[in-house]
Amino acid sequence: MSHHCDTIVIRCMDFRLRKAFDAWADEQYGDYDGVGMAGGARALIDTDPATRATALKQFQISVELHTPGRAVLTVHQDCGAAGGSAAFGKDAARERKACETDLHAADQVLRKHFPSLTTVLVIQTLDGTVTVVS
Ligand SMILES: [Zn+2]
Repeated sequence: MSHHCDTIVIRCMDFRLRKAFDAWADEQYGDYDGVGMAGGARALIDTDPATRATALKQFQISVELHTPGRAVLTVHQDCGAAGGSAAFGKDAARERKACETDLHAADQVLRKHFPSLTTVLVIQTLDGTVTVVS
């Protein structure tokens, strides 16, 4: 039996984001492989090699089983994996820039391991807004 989906998504496990994110992703991509890890795409650049390996393994399994061509990398506002908004002194612009920096770093890691995947970089805010940054 063959089964395929076009997209794999990595998002944070944080319950506050799930419903709005899933609604957006369902509309954008339909069926997709979903990876939920603390920090979302930040798991790909975590300081702990075991966390990075676990995240990459999920992509490997998805690519082998479901042959997606697209990876959606997500991070979000007030993520505990980045110290929450408090780590940025509640400066939304500074936090957003850090989100973008982390997304681009995660993107580099993923492309190195899976050059066939095209990537979509996404930031979600706590009000549910999902923004594609590239
Ligand atoms: Zn989070």
